[in-house]
Amino acid sequence: MGRMDRREFLERAGGFVAVAGFSGPFRLAEKLRDPRLRELDKLVQGDVLGLDDSGYAAARTVYSTRATTQPFAIVYAESVRDVQRTLLWARRHKLRIAPRSGGHSYGGYSLSTGVVVDVSRLHGIAVGQGNATIGAGAKLYDVVAALAQHGVTIPAGSCPTVGIAGLTLGGGVGYASRKLGLTCDSLQEVRIVTADGKLRIANAKVNPDLLWACRGGGGGNFGIVTSFRFRTHSVGPIAIYRAQWPWDQARKVVAAWAGWAPHAPDELFAVCDLIATDRRAAAPGPRLHVTSGGQFFGTPERLQALLQQLFAVAGKPTQLTVQAKTLLGAAQEWAGCRDAATCSAPERATFKAKSWYVRKKLPGPAIDVLVQSLELRAANPDLNRGAIYLDPMGGAINRVPKAASAFVHRDELVSIQAVAAWEATDPQRVADANLTAQRALADRLRPFVSGASYQNYIDPELAGWAHAYYGANLPRLARVKRRYDPGDVFRFAQSVPLHL
Ligand SMILES: Cc1cc2nc3c(=O)[nH]c(=O)nc-3n(C[C@H](O)[C@H](O)[C@H](O)COP(=O)(O)OP(=O)(O)OC[C@H]3O[C@@H](n4cnc5c(N)ncnc54)[C@H](O)[C@@H]3O)c2cc1C
Repeated sequence: MGRMDRREFLERAGGFVAVAGFSGPFRLAEKLRDPRLRELDKLVQGDVLGLDDSGYAAARTVYSTRATTQPFAIVYAESVRDVQRTLLWARRHKLRIAPRSGGHSYGGYSLSTGVVVDVSRLHGIAVGQGNATIGAGAKLYDVVAALAQHGVTIPAGSCPTVGIAGLTLGGGVGYASRKLGLTCDSLQEVRIVTADGKLRIANAKVNPDLLWACRGGGGGNFGIVTSFRFRTHSVGPIAIYRAQWPWDQARKVVAAWAGWAPHAPDELFAVCDLIATDRRAAAPGPRLHVTSGGQFFGTPERLQALLQQLFAVAGKPTQLTVQAKTLLGAAQEWAGCRDAATCSAPERATFKAKSWYVRKKLPGPAIDVLVQSLELRAANPDLNRGAIYLDPMGGAINRVPKAASAFVHRDELVSIQAVAAWEATDPQRVADANLTAQRALADRLRPFVSGASYQNYIDPELAGWAHAYYGANLPRLARVKRRYDPGDVFRFAQSVPLHL
């Protein structure tokens, strides 16, 4: 069928550019290096790259091509000690510090003008009895694949190259979340280097306020996490589905989905996507798609029965597949890749995302706004690819009390994310048109949304971002910040403030 998963949407349109990544040091002659870099070189075991080193451009590369900050230094930490020494070195030289795991921050916040502490080499995964210890630099595909070998999992996001650190620290939503909760809900312990250079353990008994903050309080705020310990989950059979309808049924399908998916049994996480594909794509077929896909912890037969409830209101899809999958097979399906090599290839995209939550049933006029936004996109020659991703909340996500972890969004029904994508080589006019369209959509949706926003879809231009991301948990987060980072060492444009 005309498969169009979320990652593939960007990839198919050519928005993803595979990048080589950094594989080794190609450094400037020692005597030409900045003395601060020479000092750091001596302090750490890992590679240190400065602006003039030839490996620098690859090392600086992050997922968003719009993130252009040029760090003074990038350090590939080989150990906790490297992290500690880099941090203290940066403080001595009054340099900003940004930790980096998978580099997928929408705002490019894992780059700083000072030093990037890249933890990607701290990627070990050890699976124990009912738990797993995961290095802060592990990518989601490696996590899911390693756990699947032991027949267990943790709820995680669907993009295979997202880092476990950014995902967990900001929440972590994925196809298992209505059954197993967010990634941060399975977090039991972190090891974190705080602003004073100390390695601290935070769990239910030791530094519990720091663990609380690391469960959804956002990446880059309280220190540099070096490893996470998660509770693991054993799961039974898994079935997945993908369905597609003609565009003229889009409103009906979204309304039917909104009345069904957030209230379905916890075992089901069913998304709904409105997509405008690349008008220059070679593949034939309609430009505007309305699709739904989901993962069910149960048999294909039981999933088929649940889907009949959706189809009774939405109308029968023109294309439908329902399949049994293994844990890894399901992850590969949503990631749009097939093995370790294809699932680990680093990628980039040029895009602008905005996101909202809806606390009540999605009203008809809001659905009109969403559908029209893609129709406007299809009609405007300066706009090309775009998508509206609708995720169901509810289930295990909403059973956690708001104050139990820093992740406050526990009473929302639907998450809406609008993504506009273009090419890095497009003229500025195209970028501007996309940004204007995204802002116009935000204005038109405002009357229908809750005002909250998911901190992992971090949006540098969001007004009132601190309240939107953290709501009633913001004062407690600021207290934790004052306790562990009183000098605001971990500071970026949208870091948790010391004082409100
Ligand atoms: C293609 C794509 C798909 C996505 N899919 C999902 C999804 O399915 N579900 C979902 O919930 N989210 C999803 N996201 C959002 C994702 O969760 C966030 O972008 C997340 O912050 C990325 O984490 P990272 O480690 O890859 O990014 P980074 O850019 O490395 O880090 C993100 C933030 O965390 C900080 N940070 C990184 N490492 C550490 C550390 N060791 N200690 C402390 N702070 C650290 C950084 O400084 C930065 O502020 C997706 C994003 C993209 C680009």
